[in-house]
Amino acid sequence: MLKFWFKIPLWQRVVGALVLGIAAGLFWGPGAESIKWIGDLFIRAIKMLIVPLIFFSLVSGIAALGDLKKLGNVGGKALLLFVTTAIISVSLGLTMGTIFQPGIGLDISLPTGVEIPQPAATSPTDMILALIPENPVMSMAEGQILPLIIFAMLFGIALLMAGKDAAPIIRGVDAGSVVMQKMTMLVMELTPFGVFALMAWVAGTFGFEALLPLAKMVALNYAGCFIIILVVYPVILKTIAKLPVIDFFRGIVDAQAVAFSTASSNAALPVTLRCVQRNLGVSKSVASFTVALGATINMNGTAMYLGLVALFGAQIYGIDLTWTSYLLIGLTATLGSVGAAGIPGSGLVMMSLVLSSIGVPLETIAFVAGINHIMDMMRTMTNVTGDATVAVAVGRMAGEIDVEEYISADDV
Ligand code: ASP
Repeated sequence: MLKFWFKIPLWQRVVGALVLGIAAGLFWGPGAESIKWIGDLFIRAIKMLIVPLIFFSLVSGIAALGDLKKLGNVGGKALLLFVTTAIISVSLGLTMGTIFQPGIGLDISLPTGVEIPQPAATSPTDMILALIPENPVMSMAEGQILPLIIFAMLFGIALLMAGKDAAPIIRGVDAGSVVMQKMTMLVMELTPFGVFALMAWVAGTFGFEALLPLAKMVALNYAGCFIIILVVYPVILKTIAKLPVIDFFRGIVDAQAVAFSTASSNAALPVTLRCVQRNLGVSKSVASFTVALGATINMNGTAMYLGLVALFGAQIYGIDLTWTSYLLIGLTATLGSVGAAGIPGSGLVMMSLVLSSIGVPLETIAFVAGINHIMDMMRTMTNVTGDATVAVAVGRMAGEIDVEEYISADDV
């Protein structure tokens, strides 16, 4: 029995669990909440990996790059792709919102009892300051990813600068990174169970009546994400990476399923990193840098959604938008997607930034809050697929990808 279980490739077990989880939840109804703890246990187990995994793989990845120019090159390309895909995604959200007008003719009264998040009072300088950890141990203890990335990068750069003197530490972090990968492999064996429980919980407890009045909005959110995943990313893979698309999806499906069921890019991070390195053959240096950074700042599904919701709100409240408003939405939605943390529901918080920039009442958030999770799952899957796409494209441009490994798309 156990032998049979392990003979099935992990991705097939995960996809099977996802489908069966939905079926079980629909059949079971709200009672499915009783198994949510299995999903929570799985999420805790993958979150446990994040801090040590990022630290060890990033530091050892930078040390493996060997020179700082290469790091600058890889970083610059990744950032350029992050920004370009975010702009394409917001434009897609705006185009769909203009054509299909999800907020027009909506006959719903404002839901009561929904808390409306206020725009964060942090200024741009505060945001920049927050990137630098005052105390790296505290940042790690609090699971703040961006300051951790900055610390790990500086640590890696300092190792390169120290040269021979740092050799024992480099060997140590290399070993640490191998150990963390093995640990990720162990935790990933929990994925089918976690995904099954989470999907059963969502399908069983979600009030589908809440979906109906906003069906158009939900459909547009899903359609936009599908366009990004099935058109925008494949174009990047074909034109920039010049690699076949099908092998990419086969290699990344575990990460997609985890992203979809947890609605958290951070929670999916260890799995994404493993898929990108192990199944798609991207080098440790490029993979750890682009995937860790991408999980926090590259959120194309969220960017598209923020553009869409801004138009939705303007349509509900009959607010006419000018070209300047469109530009403002573009800018704030891009920034919002960068600023959103990779946790469930963070896109909802960023909505306040976008809506307030164009004078649309923040009550708009209350309309979509009830169905946010269902949309969040798809956005997160899009975000994570984007991180992997950028990792492959940058890896290819920097000659840091093993094409044979990519094409064989070995299963974990
Ligand atoms: N939950 C998403 C993520 O973790 C962010 C969002 O709410 O859009 O990627």
